[in-house]
Amino acid sequence: MPPRHSLPEALLATLSTTRGRSDRLTHTEHLPARPARYSPWPDSIRPEIVASALALGVERPWAHQAEAMKLAKTGHTVVIATGTASGKSLGYLAPVLSDLLDGTEARNGRGATALYLAPTKALAADQRRRAAELAPPRVRAALYDGDTPPEEREWVRQYASYVLTNPDMLHRGILPAHPRWASFLKTLRYVVVDECHSYRGVFGSHVAQVLRRLRRICARYGSSPTFMLASATTADPAATARRLTGLPAEAVTEDASPRGPMVFGLWEPPLTENVGEHGAPVRRTATAEAAHLLTDLVEQQTRTVVFVRSRRSAELVALQTQDQLGRPLADRVAAYRGGYLADERRALERDLQTGRLLGLASTSALELGVDISGLDAVLMAGYPGTRASLWQQAGRAGREAQGALAILIARDDPLDTYLVHHPEALFATPVEATVLDPDNPHVLAPHLCAAAAELPLTDADLELFGPSSGPLLPILEQRGLLRRRTDGSWYWTRRERAVDAVDLRGSGGNPVQIVESPTGRLLGTVDASAAHTTVHTGAVHLHRGRSYLVRELDLDSSVALVEPADPPYTTSARDITSISVLSTDTTVDWGEGRLCFGSVEVVNQVVGYLRKRISTGEIMGETKLDLPPRTLRTRAVWWSVTEDQLLDADIPLDQLPGAAHAAEHASIGLLPLFATCDRWDIGGVSVPLHPDTRLPTVFVYDGHPGGAGFAERGFQRAQQWLTATRDAIASCECERGCPSCVQSPKCGNGNDPLDKAAAVRLLEVLLAGAPAGAAAETGAAAETGPGPADPSGPKQSEPEQPGPEQYGPGAPADPQGPADQEGPIAEGS
Ligand SMILES: [Zn+2]
Ligand SMILES: [Zn+2]
Repeated sequence: MPPRHSLPEALLATLSTTRGRSDRLTHTEHLPARPARYSPWPDSIRPEIVASALALGVERPWAHQAEAMKLAKTGHTVVIATGTASGKSLGYLAPVLSDLLDGTEARNGRGATALYLAPTKALAADQRRRAAELAPPRVRAALYDGDTPPEEREWVRQYASYVLTNPDMLHRGILPAHPRWASFLKTLRYVVVDECHSYRGVFGSHVAQVLRRLRRICARYGSSPTFMLASATTADPAATARRLTGLPAEAVTEDASPRGPMVFGLWEPPLTENVGEHGAPVRRTATAEAAHLLTDLVEQQTRTVVFVRSRRSAELVALQTQDQLGRPLADRVAAYRGGYLADERRALERDLQTGRLLGLASTSALELGVDISGLDAVLMAGYPGTRASLWQQAGRAGREAQGALAILIARDDPLDTYLVHHPEALFATPVEATVLDPDNPHVLAPHLCAAAAELPLTDADLELFGPSSGPLLPILEQRGLLRRRTDGSWYWTRRERAVDAVDLRGSGGNPVQIVESPTGRLLGTVDASAAHTTVHTGAVHLHRGRSYLVRELDLDSSVALVEPADPPYTTSARDITSISVLSTDTTVDWGEGRLCFGSVEVVNQVVGYLRKRISTGEIMGETKLDLPPRTLRTRAVWWSVTEDQLLDADIPLDQLPGAAHAAEHASIGLLPLFATCDRWDIGGVSVPLHPDTRLPTVFVYDGHPGGAGFAERGFQRAQQWLTATRDAIASCECERGCPSCVQSPKCGNGNDPLDKAAAVRLLEVLLAGAPAGAAAETGAAAETGPGPADPSGPKQSEPEQPGPEQYGPGAPADPQGPADQEGPIAEGS
């Protein structure tokens, strides 16, 4: 009997076999329906909560929810890391609200309290509604954020038992004013940290220190709250929870919620006739491919959402699809993105729901919180950056019985190339972890000051704040920020508030304001360190789909003056970078080669820019710039090979710069598979003969002062990471290197030299020496010790040194999805 094909399968078959598309579908994954697994309610959950859940249609909890409830009720720090729509909030709300109900029986009606932290105000507001649905009104839940009117704040402090806020408000508003929160803090039973995977990198490191400050203040008031965290599925959520809270944590990862069947296709657009930099072949863009597929789907009356990465792409996909469809179907396709008025957005959501709209091209604005159901298909034009977003977006499709279709369309980039050829990276156990580095002294120092302002710091506190804190205190005293009293404790000495010195989401340094010169209108900001590469004098700057020319970058006043213009070219900055090793923390021998992790100093100078004709990519000329060098002290992972290894790999000296440079580019592209960063958070340098290692060496470093945990994660997973890098390069069918494998969009050296074939051989010879087994991956076999320090300061590398990646970390997290590339943000130095 022939197998019966489901509707999604039939759709995918039609898409992939018509119009000469037969070789674009690289993989089809059939995700079978998963039945629900239930558990009885734990006895420790109050009957009132059980009754409200029942009224909301929840008869029994899913097994993972019950497990989380039991762990929390027995005082364990617990992180629930299960899929989207798996009811994580009931998992933490049931124990929290049960305890708060117990507390209402106290004489003052508030014998127990709980604090809820969300990364956004909107999520906190949503969670307040959920709490109100589950708990009787005598459990008083209240929002406390920047929008809370002053007259309400006092009420919240005095009477609310469940306070919903965000880490910024905890840092800036609650902790510094802890005496006014004394009665709330005294009885604090739970701290809920929702969406904790969003606390990554420097922001995550700040939040980790805020939570330590909270724990210290609670201890002073005699409470020791239980932490409950909710996370997307990632690798090692327990370790992330431990880094975030400083407490050992139990992870609940077995998702017992039901799921409908899904057919998931991985799709690679074809190479086109066009050529890019150095004659490299260019693939059709993911957005153009998405518009073609959307056209076909809409013609078949399939309700489809396309997720794209920028607002501009949303408009482009919608326009292109409308053009291809013609009327009347064109009227049933639209774009959806942040920046539209709320009314417009509601109308679009309604039209999609009723089926008046068949196709919608959207940024991630539609990813969260918007109630849409009844979609047949979801297309993703480019990997959305994390598995959490991928499943969030894919999960938008699906009618119960029929199942759903999801297609990931690869962009021209090594990570996307790797993913569409390695489905196990998406469908098997996650390898991507949420990383942060609370020990970064640049992050820790202002929190030590804030903590000292809250309550004088004593030696007993140092354990809580980690091993970097002891050595930092005398430095802070030297800077006149702290003073040690005769009793041995440290005090904040300034008149201003210590917490005002740090913005949890900022990256340090004054952002550069982008000002439209005829009107004086502020268009946006770019982070200080990114300004040199993105808004230097003469740069073409894109903003919301319009193009501007930078007339002048004034570093003294941190302003870039721009004027509307429509030049026929784009610009790309050229820079030189040198890197020196300050200290080597850990070295692992990989046969003759070697892998290291430690501290480095990166000196970067933007020296000019190229103008490239948009239509052909032809270089129209180079202009010199006179900008000062910038210095960044940060953490890096680096690897070196010996001359013998180069001989083994058949890499003559003239191929070495291109091999190392290509391997560096691709490895930067692949690191986000293992750590939740994007390639703008990290940089790299490859050197044929490095003065510190005296060997050919490739460095990958964190683009934030003091590091953010990304390079460290690369070090811990080096074997898998570099294997994936080699595979990504090898599996690209281009001949000599292209943006899908070794070319980088942010190369300061104009992607020159690059040698794709030699890069594969170089990585192979390095990996051949990697120790077998997991010891190498965890660095457990590592020997530690001081490395070659560089007392003479930064050195200039070989003049033929291939270029660094553009300095500086990623674009700011935009809850509406990345706006039109405002360029990277970064540290100031
Ligand atoms: Zn390629
Ligand atoms: Zn480069």
